[in-house]
Amino acid sequence: MNPQQLLIQNANVIDGTGAPSRLASVLVAGDKIQAVGSAADTLADPSVQRLDATGLSLMPGLIDGHVHSTFDNAAGHDELFYHRRPGMAAITAVRNVRRILTSGCTGFFDADSLFDLGVDLKEAIQHGVIEGPRMAVGGYALMTSVGGAAGRLMPDSGTMAYAVLLQGKDQIIAEVRRQIKIGCDWIKVHVTGSLSNRRSEGEMVTFTMEELRIVCDIAHSFGVQVAGHCRGAHSIKVACEAGFDQIIHATLMDDDALDAVVKHGAFLVPAMTFQANLMEFGDAINASPTLQEIFRREIEGSAAMLAKAYKAGVPVLCGTESGFSVTPYGDWHYREMEVFVKHLGLSPLQAIQCATQSGALALRMKDKVGTIEAGRLADLLLIDGDPSKDVSVVGRRDKLRMVMLGGKPIDLLRTDPDRTPLPEWRVHEFGSILSKEVVQQARGGQPVGGHGPQS
Ligand SMILES: [Zn+2]
Repeated sequence: MNPQQLLIQNANVIDGTGAPSRLASVLVAGDKIQAVGSAADTLADPSVQRLDATGLSLMPGLIDGHVHSTFDNAAGHDELFYHRRPGMAAITAVRNVRRILTSGCTGFFDADSLFDLGVDLKEAIQHGVIEGPRMAVGGYALMTSVGGAAGRLMPDSGTMAYAVLLQGKDQIIAEVRRQIKIGCDWIKVHVTGSLSNRRSEGEMVTFTMEELRIVCDIAHSFGVQVAGHCRGAHSIKVACEAGFDQIIHATLMDDDALDAVVKHGAFLVPAMTFQANLMEFGDAINASPTLQEIFRREIEGSAAMLAKAYKAGVPVLCGTESGFSVTPYGDWHYREMEVFVKHLGLSPLQAIQCATQSGALALRMKDKVGTIEAGRLADLLLIDGDPSKDVSVVGRRDKLRMVMLGGKPIDLLRTDPDRTPLPEWRVHEFGSILSKEVVQQARGGQPVGGHGPQS
């Protein structure tokens, strides 16, 4: 028997490749896109189910290149380190991955996870235990005892929240092999860390070149890729030379570092939504003006070089750092596109390409998802509006008509139970949760899109 077909007609099709949108039909058969354009009309069975999309736009589902699905909208390291329990972290993640999906994000890269939960979440989704987007996962982030983003809060050995602290080559080799064994798609390395007593120098490289090469050599020999948290030009160069496939943040990149990225074929995930949200909307949650100013400088200081990377043909992905209190799940997965348009000067179609076709690289599903083309998996959004003119409409929950994952429409009307604060779970470092509802209220009701309340 042929797979069941659905013919979506008269849609404003934005295919995710950066090409201009066009009015066309799209034929979905089973879990895949069978045909686009006149071929879709020709290949459709006479009895095909039809969906009239007149006035609506059809685009690939968003792929978020940087999410922490187990952090449960944490307000800072203190919360992640001392206020999370493995069982509850897994249970809240089950709720949160569905929230990510119903906002129009059909795939994401889970960079590192609390208690190594990423692999289990991914497999639970793959095998139909729970509902959620496609995932590619890292496990614990690799750090040396010098630490990562949390300075002296890091212990010298063992695991802490989302990180594993490693001393020397033998421990690095053992941990990379362990992560490969459990099924990680990516090894995430905190190539740089901030030393609290030397903060003026910015983040510093905390691994030796030999150690970084060992990570890449072992990972690559098993077909696993390597992602590096890199702030600072030197770290980007070192990571690319060692063989890293993905550079996260890449703020403070210079021309030499960009040359290394191009030469070694890496891609970039700046993940600036966190900074952009706090910078633009932080007032709604009484964020510190000093922090807002630091983030403003980070975005404005790195925009030109990231735009240069995009022009040089380097894939620059949209990642939102969702999982913190300023980037709650389900609310901001479209938001990096706005940042790319506003600060990097990309056109809406280019920004959409970064959030769809390029995003497939982080998902490790290049040529399988991320575009509307025959043979791709049918991960699709139907939107009342034209994202090729204004990407913000993708974030409007009231404009999202359909989210389709692998040919199946997701039930957007099913609501989760109301959530109240969990005991010993929250610490307020950045302020309260920066949901779109909070921003809307602070702006006199002007809509910014998104879901209902979170807690
Ligand atoms: Zn992150």
